[in-house]
Amino acid sequence: MEVLDAVFLDRDGTINVKAPEGSYITRPSQLRLLTGAANAIRALNDAGVLVLVVTNQRGVASRQMSLADVEDVHQELSSRLRRVGARVDGFYVCPHADLSCGCRKPAPGLLFQASHDRPGLRLDRSVMIGDSEIDVEAAAAAGARAIRLGPEATKTRATWLYPDLASAVRALIGSPDERPEAQPPGIPPLANGTEFRKG
Ligand SMILES: [Zn+2]
Repeated sequence: MEVLDAVFLDRDGTINVKAPEGSYITRPSQLRLLTGAANAIRALNDAGVLVLVVTNQRGVASRQMSLADVEDVHQELSSRLRRVGARVDGFYVCPHADLSCGCRKPAPGLLFQASHDRPGLRLDRSVMIGDSEIDVEAAAAAGARAIRLGPEATKTRATWLYPDLASAVRALIGSPDERPEAQPPGIPPLANGTEFRKG
């Protein structure tokens, strides 16, 4: 059975509805979870997979919000998840401006930070899920595989393409209701970082 150490989740557009281009989720009241996202996270929790959010929040650098605002939004996200028995195991935020750091995706810094914080977490046994190609690039740069979320025929270098978090997680670990205990996660072996099956 192939081991899955962690699933890295992009936040805006993956877990919750994105703010309009150029603006940010600056307050808890603006947070709207996408359909099926909370249950998908719970399924990962139940499968024993670490769930780590990795998110660019440039609005901090541009002073449209503070790090405390980002923290408030994450508290709210955690409390909504708690209502369905789900949790995020760690939040990793890049608050910086473009090209000023090594952690703003597509740079892999947040993923490296997470693996540094958690000895035993192997990035080559982890998957990044996000709705943007910069998530895919960050995963590739970190040596992790990627699932791109997007409509059919989206151009991507990701390992897999699924329409939303719920279907991506089902493909990764199976639905807890349908999955017999012995069935391995549906991850094919890593083929030297080149061509992958698109789901
Ligand atoms: Zn950064």
